[in-house]
Amino acid sequence: MKWSDGRYHTADTEDISGKDPDRFIPRSYSIASSSKTREYIEFYIGLVRLGSLSPRLFHLKPEDRVYLSEKPLGMLSLDAVPAEFNVVLIATGTGVAPYMSMIRTEISGGLNRRFAVIHGARHSSDLDYHSELMLLDSIS
Ligand SMILES: Cc1cc2nc3c(=O)[nH]c(=O)nc-3n(C[C@H](O)[C@H](O)[C@H](O)COP(=O)(O)OP(=O)(O)OC[C@H]3O[C@@H](n4cnc5c(N)ncnc54)[C@H](O)[C@@H]3O)c2cc1C
Repeated sequence: MKWSDGRYHTADTEDISGKDPDRFIPRSYSIASSSKTREYIEFYIGLVRLGSLSPRLFHLKPEDRVYLSEKPLGMLSLDAVPAEFNVVLIATGTGVAPYMSMIRTEISGGLNRRFAVIHGARHSSDLDYHSELMLLDSIS
């Protein structure tokens, strides 16, 4: 990724003097897609206008390449929650991403527990998974 032209158009400009244009910028992102989905990986990423990496991710075009570490890391999991327990998931902004993965994974696995999702955001238009969650609620 090049520093000079790699930022999304609404991102703030960046002082690139003295910086390596090809510097590797590692960041963590939660997977939003089901852990059983093999065809693609979905991420739910917010633009941090002053950020180093996210303005570049928003500027990616089809067939651009990004590096993903080989092994996903993290401890956030429902594995230790008994299958008969219902679950309340609370998140703001992009923090809902791992919860979407959990819900999608459990639904495709046929488990019967119930989820309540409390998702906060500054604007209702930022509740990007609202329609999907409402649909899942209506068919459950
Ligand atoms: C375990 C884990 C999972 C994550 N999952 C996601 C995810 O699913 N989706 C996602 O969008 N991000 C996620 N993040 C945050 C992500 O790793 C980056 O921090 C974020 O994208 C900003 O990176 P950047 O390089 O653009 O900004 P940076 O250059 O790292 O930050 C620039 C400035 O912006 C501030 N800043 C950083 N993030 C925010 C923010 N969200 N709002 C306001 N100011 C901020 C920083 O403190 C810093 O001052 C996760 C982080 C962790 C640790």
